[in-house]
Amino acid sequence: MTHGVAEEIKLLYEEISPLIEGYTSGLCPQCNDVCCRQRHLQYDDGDRLFIRSFGIEIEEIEAHDMDACCVFLSESGCILPRWQRPFRCTWFFCEPLIEEVQDNSARELRRMVKLVRDIQTLRGCCLNHMSGTTNGIR
Ligand code: SF4
Ligand code: SF4
Repeated sequence: MTHGVAEEIKLLYEEISPLIEGYTSGLCPQCNDVCCRQRHLQYDDGDRLFIRSFGIEIEEIEAHDMDACCVFLSESGCILPRWQRPFRCTWFFCEPLIEEVQDNSARELRRMVKLVRDIQTLRGCCLNHMSGTTNGIR
């Protein structure tokens, strides 16, 4: 992944983050079925490729109890900046979150969906590009 593309993806994460948090800050503290579990803390190839392009190695976390709370979850929410989380932490929208955004602004929901798709597209292009190389280095 070139640094330019990685920066572009990071900017998209930084754009969507306050939009999501504008809702989750109110919703999540009252949630009875918190989604932040160890089983969700799985970095995929796209996450590794993206995060390594900033010189950050992902710590491999050995999860023994997949239903335990994610190690990055604190009392005030996730301690990682969004761009350093697995992508799935951003694309997963629980039903209460979708409903709340939809009730507040369908336009905002469309904007959030577009940002997620833009991140997905850029990640996909980079992964396809990498799989077309022999050793991942060009
Ligand atoms: S995002 Fe949804 S499922 Fe996850 S903790 Fe917040 S309210 Fe609960
Ligand atoms: S990395 Fe953060 S957002 Fe993702 S599951 Fe863990 S606490 Fe939740």
